Amino acid sequence: MSGTWSGRKVTAARALVAARLPAPCARCGRTINADDNPRTWIVGHIKPRATHPHLEDDPRNWRPEHRRCSNKTGFATALAKARLDGARAERRGDFSHDDDAGSHHFRSSLSPTSDGQWEVHPRLRWAHHVATAPGWLAPYLVVPEDAAPPLAMTEVHPLAVCSYAAEGCTHGWRGVPFVVEPSAIAWVERERTIRLRWWQRLAMVRQLEHDVDGRLLWRVVVESGSRRIGKSERLRSLALWRMERGVELFEPEQVVVHVGRDVGVASEVQARAWSWCRLRGWDVKTGNGKESVTHTNGARWLVKSQNAGYGFDVHLGLADECWDIVPQKISGAIEPATLERESSQLVLTSTSNQAATSLMKNRISAALAADDGRTLLLLWGVEPGADLFDEATWRAASAHWTEDRRVMIGAKLREAQDAGPQVDDPDPVGSWANNYLNVWDLVVRTKERGDLVFDGDSWGLLEVEVPERAPDEAAIESWFGEGLSVALAWRLEGGPVVVRVLAYDDLPAAVAAVKAARFRGTTTVGATLLGDPALSKLRARPGQGRTSDAVKELARLMGEDAVRHDGQEHLRGQVLALRTVPGVDGRRVSSKGRADAVKAAVWAIGSARARKGRQRLVLPSS
Ligand SMILES: [Zn+2]
Ligand SMILES: [Zn+2]
Repeated sequence: MSGTWSGRKVTAARALVAARLPAPCARCGRTINADDNPRTWIVGHIKPRATHPHLEDDPRNWRPEHRRCSNKTGFATALAKARLDGARAERRGDFSHDDDAGSHHFRSSLSPTSDGQWEVHPRLRWAHHVATAPGWLAPYLVVPEDAAPPLAMTEVHPLAVCSYAAEGCTHGWRGVPFVVEPSAIAWVERERTIRLRWWQRLAMVRQLEHDVDGRLLWRVVVESGSRRIGKSERLRSLALWRMERGVELFEPEQVVVHVGRDVGVASEVQARAWSWCRLRGWDVKTGNGKESVTHTNGARWLVKSQNAGYGFDVHLGLADECWDIVPQKISGAIEPATLERESSQLVLTSTSNQAATSLMKNRISAALAADDGRTLLLLWGVEPGADLFDEATWRAASAHWTEDRRVMIGAKLREAQDAGPQVDDPDPVGSWANNYLNVWDLVVRTKERGDLVFDGDSWGLLEVEVPERAPDEAAIESWFGEGLSVALAWRLEGGPVVVRVLAYDDLPAAVAAVKAARFRGTTTVGATLLGDPALSKLRARPGQGRTSDAVKELARLMGEDAVRHDGQEHLRGQVLALRTVPGVDGRRVSSKGRADAVKAAVWAIGSARARKGRQRLVLPSS
């Protein structure tokens, strides 16, 4: 077990290595300069800490590395350590073929190996989804015993009002209700007499989110989980539902196109539905490479090779085993074919693979880095830095979990360790981690995207003193367990509102601050905080809108010259760090930092502005 590489130790090491700069990055060779942003480089170890813990604190074993270059190799290091453990265990004779007792042999002291692995943003994490789920989604977030939630999932689309897969959905195209039709999940389960797995239901509900007009909201679904979790059934059910309902919900002559790394992969998924389709009177063609199914309503499901051209439009594209598809086959062929159609969708799905092209890696990385408003990410896999040989990790990475699966993963690992490097698979343990734990070698761009919204000079000009009296409005918002902000607002003579925002660690402290300010009105409180017992002594109403809405509103208020502040750093820092990128429904926030102070400030200012109409008119005495 290596010691902890953090805190003062790292600071001291950085100072020592910084004195040696400029020096080349040990990974990419490009120069790291002394005046580079210190966040862009780290102290790396020539002999990895995981395999050579005794050299961790030896300055001769230190070297500068770009943070980004180092992140790339985190999993590689973890695997190197794992292989070493495997080899040692083998020499001790720990492994034997007929021992099926599970994974205890493979436990290792593997600890997080990198100083800066990629991270899953709190917005994509399960706890956040559970805390913020709308009513139609909530029933699908109850994780049963035999399942695990995704490691990362895009938030509900901001325009979503419901999902065609959610129970009770009666929406139709352009708001015309289909009261008698079952949801997509209910239809699949009833008509095909199967029971979908929990993760398959979740994927259906998320993919079929629709807006108030009944349009599907996600244009691209990037989905990845380990092998043998039931991906084929998920694609099959989706294709059949789209053929059945797409004609009435979206437009006639629906075309579903299914491509795989080769035709066989895609036709295998379709073939398992052929007899079911024939029973319903649908036309089935089975010619090799020309497989197709045609619904009595005219909808078609075609199997194509990834090299096929598209002289026709596609409503639902299914790209299977994308690890073996080059990006151009998607972005230059099937993706443009879906662009023009109403509520069209493209599903990219694949388990990780050592030979993977950049297609899935880049799509997953991009979706982890920022929400573009059109891509839904559903990723099951391993937390960066997790112990790959811990059964709990296997379980957390498995969308569907059974005892058979545990035994299989253990057996596959032993197989890989016994095999050793092969000509066609130089790294069997790495392949095992790819296939069964869905470990992706990702480079998530941590550089902030987008344009700054506010500039420091203009913000500085708005600084004024706050009045002595009690505030007119108050608001509280939190940020993913990282802390809370309390905003107090005073309406000033002539219309503008001055706001003061302070930071607190917990809700009781925030409530106490509102009381201490002598505010007696109704406090606007972030929706995730409502119901907390700490609020019982406070009159509260829910704050509305997401960060993007708050930023838009703040820009609007500043445009009306309605905003003043007391100059404090908590709000200033958040406001000046905001970045946005263009999105389908206006600009979206792309910066990753806290924005609770911004939201609380906008709520308090908005309420204070609204007070104008409620205040009694005081006539000057004559
Ligand atoms: Zn580098
Ligand atoms: Zn609906």
